[in-house]
Amino acid sequence: MAYAYDTNNIFARILRGEIPCRKVMETEHTLAFHDIAPQAPVHVLVIPKGAYVNADHFALEASDAEIADYTRTIGKICQELGIRPGDGGQGYRLIANSGEAGIQEVPHLHFHILGGRVLGRMLKQAD
Ligand code: AMP
Repeated sequence: MAYAYDTNNIFARILRGEIPCRKVMETEHTLAFHDIAPQAPVHVLVIPKGAYVNADHFALEASDAEIADYTRTIGKICQELGIRPGDGGQGYRLIANSGEAGIQEVPHLHFHILGGRVLGRMLKQAD
């Protein structure tokens, strides 16, 4: 299956510097910034700089260097924000909504890092 990437999605435009973001961290392959409509005291979005639609696209087709950089950056952000459980932090949740069923609004892979409060159960209903 070929993944179709929309080069005009809002995160592609942030990566091109066409619209601003509140940057948290930037590395060779990864950019992290605050969500514009935070749903918790900590709500950071982590995106790869490469053109990946969603989590499975990235996992299947990104290079080892991109995957290592992205994963390590998530760890470093959790460390810097002080949300790591067992390290004085309360913990956090990582979410990557993908596609229609996942109700993904922006078609460029992003992990949400949510924390700073007890987040409640992951899903409200089982069906
Ligand atoms: P999702 O539903 O998983 O695709 O989440 C998209 C997220 O992007 C939402 O939490 C939005 O609040 C967030 N968002 C949309 N536009 C921007 C923007 N310009 N800067 C930061 N976050 C944004």
